[in-house]
Amino acid sequence: MGKVLIIGAGGVATVAAVKIAQNADVFTDIMIASRTKSKCDKIKEYIGNPDIKTAQVDADDVEQLKALMNDYKPELCVNLALPYQDLTIMEACLACGVSYLDTANYEPKDEAHFEYSWQWAYKKRFEDAGLTAILGCGFDPGVTSIFTAYAAKHYFDEIQYLDIVDCNAGNHHKAFATNFNPEINIREITQKGLYWEDGKWVETAPLEIHQPLTYPNVGPKESYLLHHEEIESLVKNYPTIKRARFWMTFGQQYLTYLDCIQNLGMSRIDEIEYEAPLADNPDKKVKVKIVPLQFLKAVLPNPQDLGENYDGETSIGCRIRGLKDGKELTYYVYNNCSHQAAYQETGMQGVSYTTGVPAMIGAMMFFKGLWRRPGVWNVEEFDPDPFMEQLNKQGLPWHEIFNGDLEL
Ligand code: NDP
Repeated sequence: MGKVLIIGAGGVATVAAVKIAQNADVFTDIMIASRTKSKCDKIKEYIGNPDIKTAQVDADDVEQLKALMNDYKPELCVNLALPYQDLTIMEACLACGVSYLDTANYEPKDEAHFEYSWQWAYKKRFEDAGLTAILGCGFDPGVTSIFTAYAAKHYFDEIQYLDIVDCNAGNHHKAFATNFNPEINIREITQKGLYWEDGKWVETAPLEIHQPLTYPNVGPKESYLLHHEEIESLVKNYPTIKRARFWMTFGQQYLTYLDCIQNLGMSRIDEIEYEAPLADNPDKKVKVKIVPLQFLKAVLPNPQDLGENYDGETSIGCRIRGLKDGKELTYYVYNNCSHQAAYQETGMQGVSYTTGVPAMIGAMMFFKGLWRRPGVWNVEEFDPDPFMEQLNKQGLPWHEIFNGDLEL
């Protein structure tokens, strides 16, 4: 029996729900709950399975979550809402005896800052409750962490240098759009860069460090060093790592728009006061508080609507250097994902696909009893083999290059 509750009804949740429904031998009961119930109903309609249940829930409210969980009684909650909701959902899971999985670590709304400490603090409570919490089970974090675990298990005695490389060589034919939630995406990219070297964190100015990297089937693309959450857990779980970095490609047009957005103050996450006429009574003005970045999200293209005209592919992987039997070895493991193939299968573009599929596989690992251990865990702490096997079966095949030039 696999009774799952999906929270959120965005691009990632849509893909995860489609893939969960495709694996009916593992997932016997499915509920999709989100802030806007009509979006859950739309996913149910797209999948065409009348047995899927849908519900409205405000995941910022622990009591509402508890009422929903006590009523539906899932075994696992797959959190595909936003990072702001991680802790409220974990609280509700603990109160209701439900295990937990997410794809992004907690971030407070009023501070563009993410780290695992808030969620790791729940370890003992999940342990005592006999419940499993699986953190960061998307692509990055997620598959990149599992790629690293697979490399450590099968090929290296000691991983010394890790570079996670994330290329989106797709084109959605919009002047500016983000590939996942615009608010979360812009907060992430405009932060200072951070990487791990010789036992300490090194901070950089935002997007300060960049260089071209060559991606399989894509070619060279300018790649920018960013802070990314999986580096934090990977250097803890693989203490032999001397340097760990994360790189992401951006086109010049994207960066020019991003610069404008910042210079115009539209990436601000503090509240500003704005006086505007009431929509239903323009003679009357009211003062409202607006967070500029949240307003920007409302006018930008919805990442869920990008799929139809999206061409090209993503290419995400790990470039690893280390030792095996005293000799140096390089290893590059990656997946390329076509935006159009993702759209044809799930109605969503490749970035939602590469996140939603691993979330489903993580849930499958839990229900099969392969990744079920009381406590709070990052994905690299589980056996990577059954997960890697499923990646090949579920639409995200991976490839390996041994002793190639890592360029880094
Ligand atoms: P979307 O913005 O498309 O979807 C988020 C969904 O969560 C929406 O349906 C939204 O509801 C719902 N939601 C937001 N707040 C609440 C709330 N308080 N209560 C209930 N539901 C709520 O985001 P994505 O699908 O693009 O991303 C989902 C998650 O995946 C994010 O956390 C993101 O950071 C993560 N991610 C992880 C990646 C990885 O590789 N690890 C890569 C990409 C994304 P409504 O529709 O009403 O607004």
